[in-house]
Amino acid sequence: MKIAILGGGISGLSAAWYARKKYPNAEISLLEQKDRLGGWIQTSHENGLLFEQGPRTFAANRSSHLVELIEETGLSSQLIFSDPCAERRFLFCKGKLRRAASFLPMLILPLIREPFIPKGKGEDESIYDFAARRLGPKIANTLIDPMALGIFAGDIHKLSIRSCFPFLYRWEQERGSLVLGAFFSQFSNKKKGRKGLFTLQSGMGTLIEELALQSRADIRFETTVETIRHDGVIANGAFYPADLVVSALNGSTIGQITGLWRDFYEADLWIVHLAYDGDCLPKKGFGYLVPTQEGENLLGMIWDSAIFPQQSPSGKTRVTLMMREGNVEEAIAVMKRYLGVDAEPIFTSAHLAKAAIPQFYVGYGKRLARFEEEAKKQFPSLILLGNYLRGVSVNACISISKEYFLG
Ligand SMILES: Cc1cc2nc3c(=O)[nH]c(=O)nc-3n(C[C@H](O)[C@H](O)[C@H](O)COP(=O)(O)OP(=O)(O)OC[C@H]3O[C@@H](n4cnc5c(N)ncnc54)[C@H](O)[C@@H]3O)c2cc1C
Repeated sequence: MKIAILGGGISGLSAAWYARKKYPNAEISLLEQKDRLGGWIQTSHENGLLFEQGPRTFAANRSSHLVELIEETGLSSQLIFSDPCAERRFLFCKGKLRRAASFLPMLILPLIREPFIPKGKGEDESIYDFAARRLGPKIANTLIDPMALGIFAGDIHKLSIRSCFPFLYRWEQERGSLVLGAFFSQFSNKKKGRKGLFTLQSGMGTLIEELALQSRADIRFETTVETIRHDGVIANGAFYPADLVVSALNGSTIGQITGLWRDFYEADLWIVHLAYDGDCLPKKGFGYLVPTQEGENLLGMIWDSAIFPQQSPSGKTRVTLMMREGNVEEAIAVMKRYLGVDAEPIFTSAHLAKAAIPQFYVGYGKRLARFEEEAKKQFPSLILLGNYLRGVSVNACISISKEYFLG
């Protein structure tokens, strides 16, 4: 059996892993456009400093598929857990950093009222409309907007509640209220393991290397898939025959290649890394998010070395800023102005993450269903995997790959 996997991100590599389990003797080719694997997962080691370009933190109680894959690939000893301080999250509000917990009083009245607000008709709506309806515009702009920014780097007036935060949509539909939904979910989630965040000691790139090695796929670098046929694919002008074609490409690419989804949106953002000698963060925590209403270029900042001090054995400070426009000078100025870090950084880098995060705009669920249905009709041997199907988390990507091959 010949299997062609398109794209060498975590979706493609986990697909190769599970395909190998299901079909030990299959000929598996993995076609990747770039000269490296991992897609958004990319660990760099600069002057002994570890930086993740993409995903770096995973909630222990919501990442069972990722944990399982780490264990299966023999990387359990690499698992490290976050410092307890990572539970502390901050928000930037009116020019100041405030503990997220300090906003709780502002939530009391809206939460008392919320169960009495009639539930919506079940139609999709924007995150803003949903949150403003149930909790009020102030909560929507101050607390819900940064939560959405932190995951999707997008606009809550356009993003769909149903596709971005399906659990909130469900709580309203099933329980009639977010408060009741949250209350009951506490019970159902009770036994789901430890709290906190985890990552891999040497970075998420380690998992990519192991998957590539152990799946024994024939990996073709710098190979751009151009056309999908019923009996294989064309990449770089050459034909790759396959009984099964597995797309682990990002949404806009597979949309273009199939010609079935041309207006698929993905958000760009800049990733800026800074490192400093010694431990110079005046606050300890996960980092902070900046609500859109603050009008800043900064979306948020992650205090990498506070979350995982194990990855900074020399005690150096490492932070990552997510920005609308990449600007190292501005990033350094933000560190000075809001965190009082006057020292000069010992390392800086900035890169544009282009088309980084799929944008699930209102009505996305219907558009996706139409795309999947049409793809099934026109490309019967094509399997769709990736982060635009069920959620952008690495865990969600792995879960779809696993489900397809192992059920
Ligand atoms: C900055 C950032 C931070 C994130 N942080 C987190 C986090 O902390 N936790 C979390 O769970 N998730 C996080 N995510 C989301 C998560 O990283 C991604 O959703 C996930 O890695 C996507 O994996 P993928 O394999 O589906 O797609 P990708 O990683 O996009 O891989 C697709 C691959 O296909 C290749 N390709 C594209 N076109 C072609 C073509 N025509 N032919 C051949 N190959 C092609 C690409 O080069 C790429 O290697 C983050 C994402 C970003 C961008």
